[in-house]
Amino acid sequence: MASEKEIKEIYENRMNILEDLTNNVQEIQEQVLEEILKRNAGTEYLSRFFPSGEADNQSFKTIVPIITYEDIKPYIDRIANGETSPILLAYRIIQFLLSTGTSGGQPKLIPMTAESFEKRMSDLLLSDLVTRKCFSGSDEGKSLYLYFIKPEMETPSGLKASFFTTFYFKTESFKNGLAKFLTSPIDTILCLDNKQSMFCQLLTGLLQRDEVVRFGSTFASVLARTIKFLEDYWRELCSNIRTGYLSDWIIDPGCKNAMSLILTRPNRELADSIQQICEDKSWEGIIVKLWPKIKYIHCIITGSMSQYVSLLEFYGGGIPFVSPIYNSSESSFGINLKPVSKPFDVSYTFLPNTAYFEFLPVGKDGEGKAQETWTDDEPVGLANVKLGRYYEVVVTTLAGLYRYTVGDVLKVTGFYNKSPQFQFVERRNVVLSIDVDKTTEEDLSKAIMKAKLILEPLGIMLTTYSSYADTSLTPGRYVLFWELKMKGSNDLPKLDAKIMEQCCCMVEESFDFTYKSHRKGGAISALELRVVKHGTFDELMDFYVSKGVSVAQYKPPSCLKSEEAVKILNSGMVGKFFSPKTMF
Ligand code: AMP
Repeated sequence: MASEKEIKEIYENRMNILEDLTNNVQEIQEQVLEEILKRNAGTEYLSRFFPSGEADNQSFKTIVPIITYEDIKPYIDRIANGETSPILLAYRIIQFLLSTGTSGGQPKLIPMTAESFEKRMSDLLLSDLVTRKCFSGSDEGKSLYLYFIKPEMETPSGLKASFFTTFYFKTESFKNGLAKFLTSPIDTILCLDNKQSMFCQLLTGLLQRDEVVRFGSTFASVLARTIKFLEDYWRELCSNIRTGYLSDWIIDPGCKNAMSLILTRPNRELADSIQQICEDKSWEGIIVKLWPKIKYIHCIITGSMSQYVSLLEFYGGGIPFVSPIYNSSESSFGINLKPVSKPFDVSYTFLPNTAYFEFLPVGKDGEGKAQETWTDDEPVGLANVKLGRYYEVVVTTLAGLYRYTVGDVLKVTGFYNKSPQFQFVERRNVVLSIDVDKTTEEDLSKAIMKAKLILEPLGIMLTTYSSYADTSLTPGRYVLFWELKMKGSNDLPKLDAKIMEQCCCMVEESFDFTYKSHRKGGAISALELRVVKHGTFDELMDFYVSKGVSVAQYKPPSCLKSEEAVKILNSGMVGKFFSPKTMF
């Protein structure tokens, strides 16, 4: 492990690099693009636009079209099927990354090279250093980070395809780096059975509870699921600690072996103290009670993850959150240079050496709603975005993506030196839509955040939500699913119809002008609110996981497109309520 002096040197070195990068955004971006074109102008894809095999930055920006995944899918499929000519890039692909976005029901395959992996790693390292520097003492102990993997796929060419985290957790750089600071033995992370993996990771985290200074996972949703698992299994975990014997349903050889080195003796005292904490009727602050030395909770908690803020704040008992990084299978984008920001204030600083970035201006109308269509404005470069404006990010990478739209809308909130900082606004295509109304993820989240304030004084917590546009009837309506529970217990609250109706009204009131005018004009029916019992959203997650989504990358959909998913939530329904028909 690196000494304090070595860590200080690494930090200072990285910070100097950061200063250099963020002061020379324009120059570095042009160099990155030049390098990409020098290497790849002769590929089949680019030579369509540059038959001479040579391309310069300026022509690239005017000739090469802005595309989506569907446009390059045929090229990617040919690589996946084993064609070895330089189709999209001249360099060797080490494998594909699976994105949680889908194309025709299949996960998207994104090429990854050794170099693009290294770039991502250097962003992760920088983010980690910045965070540790912010919280004194956080270097000393261990991290209880709940990490999971998913099975890999193999393409016909023999190239593997996996989620980024699965790839990363199997690398030497994980094993020799971050893994050394974790409470979870690597074999428990690499166990493909997520339930056995979760049990063992929580058990090792509890056994080392006095050493844990950081708690986290990739996404906030995984932590919400971890707490639910703890609620269901704390007695069994305590019994393992008390007796020194591992539950016999843990049969994965890696897990069993790793646990045999940690669960070595009965520890009655530890089991009693954990039991006492978990028996408390209220689980408010359970994380800090179980792991009293935790300095921060580390997970992505922006975008669709922001629906977990209040739930995790409740269980966290005041521990700050660090939302470290904004990235995707396509590219790393930005890191959070102000780790102490509150979840709703987090911005990510883009680093100009990661990829070549362009930004399509996205209009915002008076009510702050992202317009569906792009404005006519030309895309602008990283050095030219304007404070307060909204953009959709377009990326050109070293790994074969050229002017590729990721689908994320971002807002410029500031600058670090000359490098812009962005707040994640929404995933562009996640919208509820009826007639001409398009309600975005951001609109929905804001409206629900307002409506749930009605419930909070009554001790009722909204733990998670989703929605869908029910167009089976005419006119159609938006249906919300809310999972509710009492603060401090998992009991279902008594549902007062009047109050629930008020929540429906508040959501509708908070929607934008287009929605309200259509509702008034009768083009949209009264909003429906379906309350589901505690645990129903876990079943939804199980459903998506069974379809191949990685637990570590799972993001609860704020809007459902699949009938099966709607059915699952309907099966947990305990009450439904409507806005008054004539509200507007
Ligand atoms: P995937 O390619 O499956 O890793 O998904 C990437 C997508 O997850 C991004 O395009 C974003 O929509 C979302 N995402 C990743 N990081 C963040 C973040 N820090 N905040 C909000 N959304 C994020």
